[in-house]
Amino acid sequence: MSLNLPENERDLDSPAYKAFRHSVYVRDNFKCQLCGSNYRLNAHHIKRWADDVKLRFSASNGIALCESCHKMVTGNEDSFEERFKVIVKKNTIAKYGGQTPKKPSGKYKLRNPRLRF
Ligand SMILES: [Zn+2]
Repeated sequence: MSLNLPENERDLDSPAYKAFRHSVYVRDNFKCQLCGSNYRLNAHHIKRWADDVKLRFSASNGIALCESCHKMVTGNEDSFEERFKVIVKKNTIAKYGGQTPKKPSGKYKLRNPRLRF
């Protein structure tokens, strides 16, 4: 049930949300981290959007999942949390050598038109 408060509304087109998605997809090499598909990627929130305001736009709380894996995870977030954190940590080290990645700036170019940017 939605609380309908402004801070709980998700504007998928806001710059902050686009930057979040972009960071997650780049770090995860534009692939679903469960099945490897690059079809219809979603940036899943490891700690649910509703549960942690501070982590909403933090790439460390996001993971790239395809649409069907995302559906499977939705409602079972808790049971995937530890597994996803391990994957995110591994990908962050592989991509950035354990450094905190710089926030992307400027315009986001579409690499794959099926991605929702
Ligand atoms: Zn998948």
